[in-house]
Amino acid sequence: MKLRGGYNVHLAGRPTNEVRDLPAPERLYLPLRSRRFTFSEIDVTDGQKVACGDEIAKDPGNFNVPLLAPYAGTVRLDALEGHVVLEDLDPAAGCSVREHDESAERSRYDPAVSEWKRRMLLELGAWQFFADAHTGTPLDPSGTPGAILVTTVHLDPHVARGDVLLRGRLDEFARGLEHLQSFLEYQPIYVAMSDIRTDFASEVREKLRGHAFVNLVAVPRRYPYGHPVALARHLGLTPSLENPVWALTTAGVLAVDRVLTTGTPAVERIVAVGGPAIDAPTHVRTVVGQPIHDLIGGHVTEKPVRVVNGGIMTGGTVGPEQKGLCAESTGLTVLVESTTRPFLGWIRPGWGSRSYSKTFASEVRPAFPEKINTALRGELRPCISCGQCVDVCPAGIMPNVIHKYIYAHDIESTIDTRVDLCFECGLCSYICPSKIDLRQQFIDAKKEIQAELEALLEEVEE
Ligand code: SF4
Ligand code: SF4
Repeated sequence: MKLRGGYNVHLAGRPTNEVRDLPAPERLYLPLRSRRFTFSEIDVTDGQKVACGDEIAKDPGNFNVPLLAPYAGTVRLDALEGHVVLEDLDPAAGCSVREHDESAERSRYDPAVSEWKRRMLLELGAWQFFADAHTGTPLDPSGTPGAILVTTVHLDPHVARGDVLLRGRLDEFARGLEHLQSFLEYQPIYVAMSDIRTDFASEVREKLRGHAFVNLVAVPRRYPYGHPVALARHLGLTPSLENPVWALTTAGVLAVDRVLTTGTPAVERIVAVGGPAIDAPTHVRTVVGQPIHDLIGGHVTEKPVRVVNGGIMTGGTVGPEQKGLCAESTGLTVLVESTTRPFLGWIRPGWGSRSYSKTFASEVRPAFPEKINTALRGELRPCISCGQCVDVCPAGIMPNVIHKYIYAHDIESTIDTRVDLCFECGLCSYICPSKIDLRQQFIDAKKEIQAELEALLEEVEE
């Protein structure tokens, strides 16, 4: 597969392959917001006893995607703002098993079976793993996919990796794909895998080769080539409102299998806990609502720290108001919070830092993972027209030029330079020597353009 741009960041604190189990906490703090979902409709009352898998709340703005109770317990609604708290937990009680249709053949397209499966996926918590491959937005569960795109390649250094999730669960993954096939009449399922040659990778390829409906796509190990938008564009899959391309990650396919094969809710999560400020970065088996403190506590090497929900490239800071793991988290990245910015840090020799421009003294050292903190090497500066952002951008646009138009409030030129093609991978922001947060500027610009277009449409309709 030929893709342009891309760059691998080598950062300290990459989680190992190990998956650590965490004991159940005293309480779970279920955040009512995640990146895409707002669980604003509460379905439980204060003091109510719930079983594992019961619906706690749902997102009415996104097809009623539910927030489920990961364990049996008692609900507290007013204990912490923005959260539902579950206490008196009873993890041993296990999850309630929904009766499932044994006769439903996994891979045969049948509208009646397909409808039953969609309902199960939504109600038992697997639908939140589905997204429109081109926009990343939640999908209508009653819709028909133009194709299904599964990516097992997660190259942001600190998020849960597909190979770790797949180990020991290859049969479940293959069954999940068979279930997904039943949503398609003739359209393909693309499974993107890293092009590495290891015994495990060969085993996965061998397993999937037995499934004729799966098109294996070999992806070079270069960030952000595993991103659904990059893959969809390079596979020639076009965006469609009617038949969008459904995108899932490894965790999503495993959730599909859990729900449709066993009838149990998809409440377990495997997340990465890493970053330069963690002494033993690893993967952790946990549930939504697990206190953040339990996930990182005892492993922080230096304080103060900043905890990022997700990877370093696209994640967002976990604010002090968030106490538990949110429904969509794939990892926590922990960085030392630098209280002072190093004076003229960007022109220092850089023995311990890396640079895309290869100008630092570190170039003469053997490869090493960089230990970054939140200071990002110095002060913000104006664009120096180095062109590095253009070089790395996998969308083929010119971030430096778009930045200048945004700076000049020239919306028309911003549109002409195709800011819409930016899929927010964050690479330009990361490598920019002037530390300009290009990604955030483009996110804001796209929102502004959308709002202007909607206002214009309204005017035309009146
Ligand atoms: S402009 Fe968008 S797609 Fe290109 S590198 Fe920046 S964030 Fe990624
Ligand atoms: S990488 Fe930063 S400094 Fe260099 S051209 Fe792009 S915006 Fe300007």
